[in-house]
Amino acid sequence: MWCLVWWFVGVGLRSTLRRTPPTCTDPPGLRTCADPPGSTNHRPGMPGTPITQQDPTPQALCRSGAGRSQIAFRPRTRRRCPSVVLVSTENPHPRLSDVTAAFESVYPTAWAASWDAVGLACGDPEQTVGKILFAVDPVEAVVDEALLWGADLIITHHPLMLRGVHSVAADTPKGRIVHRLIRSGTALYTAHTNADTAAPGVSDALARAVGVSGPLRPLDPDPTDPEGRRGIGRIGVLEQPLVLHDFADQAARGLPATAGGVRVAGDPGRLVTTVAVSGGSGDSLLGAARAAGVDAYLTSDLRHHPASEFVEESGSPALLDTAHFASEWPWLTDGSARLADALAREAGSWAANVEMRVSTTVTDAWAQAFGRG
Ligand SMILES: [Zn+2]
Repeated sequence: MWCLVWWFVGVGLRSTLRRTPPTCTDPPGLRTCADPPGSTNHRPGMPGTPITQQDPTPQALCRSGAGRSQIAFRPRTRRRCPSVVLVSTENPHPRLSDVTAAFESVYPTAWAASWDAVGLACGDPEQTVGKILFAVDPVEAVVDEALLWGADLIITHHPLMLRGVHSVAADTPKGRIVHRLIRSGTALYTAHTNADTAAPGVSDALARAVGVSGPLRPLDPDPTDPEGRRGIGRIGVLEQPLVLHDFADQAARGLPATAGGVRVAGDPGRLVTTVAVSGGSGDSLLGAARAAGVDAYLTSDLRHHPASEFVEESGSPALLDTAHFASEWPWLTDGSARLADALAREAGSWAANVEMRVSTTVTDAWAQAFGRG
């Protein structure tokens, strides 16, 4: 796993920004880089406290408050550490507006679908930001996690208020979140379909997590991108062909464990080489997956009738259905790394002292499963 540590030293090295070599070999989800002081890889200022289990057990879910779980990983490959730190002693923190501008330089809001609601949902653009928590869903448990850590900003993939509201009274779940965020001075920002279509975007991270490698191309290209790199979903190949059973197992190991796991439709002995993936609800792209001629299509929220009719048709790809949360969670690490890059590119002293963390709270709506065959 790669861990990016950015140092911006205000005293003596006021304008010097340098990237330190990767040091972290912790399981994904541990924001550790806990190399002991004095060791070759130790970096001062790097957080050293894991926020979940030190030794995650495959398939295990560690219950926490509010019915939510913490992610238990089944590590298949080493991944980059999701924790990033920028350090300056002169200008402690950037403004929120500086952070959102940097983020929008890699995920422009103009790329979002017309029906979407992305950007700053809550917060004062003039407030400063020292800690940023990345999460899939803006739900109560994530706000709990953010406030416990002392986050100044939560960046989520899903919007809190996708549709218009007439009230944010605190006697509704969303209103309660708005009140808690404002009372605590915590901002909320969303990158949704603009992060889906970006290159690299949500499905690039998903592809890598399940072992699909490139060159990756969009399953549903964005016609406004002359280079043909942006779009929804990605198509790639496995490093080596696997039977469907083994690919499903590999995919499950690369994603956060959820109660529903990975469901499969198709012959488990079928050989899989080419794969299409689409983070989030992907049944609208079933036809595109068939047209692409891939061996398997991995996405989320597939419904019974479309899936059943799809696999009945000869020549159709096999289907793999994951938890919606699980298919989008891998992007959070990418998003935090790209924000760190963007802040570093700006290289102003305001880019200093920003710590980022990826939430390990499982926010999948389906928290339990019974009677599995
Ligand atoms: Zn989604």
